[in-house]
Amino acid sequence: MAQPLNVSLDLPDFEVADLLIEGGRSWNVSLLGDLFDSNSAQHIQKIHLSQEVFSDRWTWAASPKGLFSVRSAHELASQDLASRSSPLSPEDWSCLWGLKLQHRLKHLLWKLAWNILPVRASLARFVNSFDLDPWCCPFCKGPQESLSHIMLECSFAKILWRSSPWPLLTDAFCEQPFADWIVAILRPHQKLAIPIQEVRKFQLHAAITMDHIWFSRNQLVHQALNPSPMQSLLLIASTIADHRKAWTNSNLSSIWSPPLPGTTKANFDVALSSDFAVAATVISDSNGNIIGAATKKILTKDVALGEAHAALLAVHTAVSCGAYSLILEGDALNVVLAIQQLQLFAGWNFSNVVYDISLYLHSFFSWKVEKVSRSANFRTHCLAKWAASHLVFGSIPIGSSILSSIRIKSGKDPPL
Ligand SMILES: [Zn+2]
Repeated sequence: MAQPLNVSLDLPDFEVADLLIEGGRSWNVSLLGDLFDSNSAQHIQKIHLSQEVFSDRWTWAASPKGLFSVRSAHELASQDLASRSSPLSPEDWSCLWGLKLQHRLKHLLWKLAWNILPVRASLARFVNSFDLDPWCCPFCKGPQESLSHIMLECSFAKILWRSSPWPLLTDAFCEQPFADWIVAILRPHQKLAIPIQEVRKFQLHAAITMDHIWFSRNQLVHQALNPSPMQSLLLIASTIADHRKAWTNSNLSSIWSPPLPGTTKANFDVALSSDFAVAATVISDSNGNIIGAATKKILTKDVALGEAHAALLAVHTAVSCGAYSLILEGDALNVVLAIQQLQLFAGWNFSNVVYDISLYLHSFFSWKVEKVSRSANFRTHCLAKWAASHLVFGSIPIGSSILSSIRIKSGKDPPL
């Protein structure tokens, strides 16, 4: 490829057009001689210049017609990969393609192993620029954005790895080729001392975490959306839960079921109105009888905040019903997770509400909070919608017609 003789020449905004004279109809031969070695200059002069002057256009050099096609891009990429030595052994490749993961995640691991995601460090190789700013990590604005940096070394990534069920210290891998980290994911029991029975769980967690980091990086670069580590942990947990559900093929029960004897169940849900939310709770005993119900108007349009208030209303109402051992059920995964892991999610926008919930939870002998399907939470959803349209807030009498009607509807699929 032709290169200028002296690459340090200061030629700001120099374009091919600057090498042309006579309105773009001939090459400026003496300038070519100044800038290129004679062989390159001769080759450039052989490029035919049309006597018609056209405006600039993009051309895809990898296809004869200059038009982009996925096929030609694929051929180009394959040639490039074929010329590089494989980052993984044949055994590791077959292990990767045999992982029990969605194909999309396996494909991501493949791209990570080859280090072909367009991180800034890769792009910088093609541009002669001494200005490091555009190439720095978009998360921490620190070092150049390499795969190892954003996936393992950056503070954002470290928080995610450390908060995993296997608190991982990724420092040891930062200085190694990134493919070593992929090998560690493929063989975590050998490389990371992950118990053999947890390997599959770990691999899913690792793939989804890296998928999320790359997604957050793109949101930040292209839409200036700053990621919140807390929100990321919630999203990762919920994505993992969805994938694992697909593994076990056991969907959440679509039908509400009464709790075991001696236990009380408190369902919570929220309905959104035009400018406020309505929290609702239905408290049931082990015979399936409703022993308490309440609604509350919440001045928010934020569903998550509304759900958190509904959970607070549920524990509060369960206390007044004299519950001893409590099962709290809702269909909002983020709120359920926040209550399950009170400390981890401090700082989340409904953390104050979750803190108040934790105070009430102390009054039960035992408690647990579970995510249920929307249809299993149908009675409470109906109550919230009814209260939102009739503007009825507060404790709902046990004998009221609305409670009789939701009791009958219970178990049916909810309207979407
Ligand atoms: Zn960083």
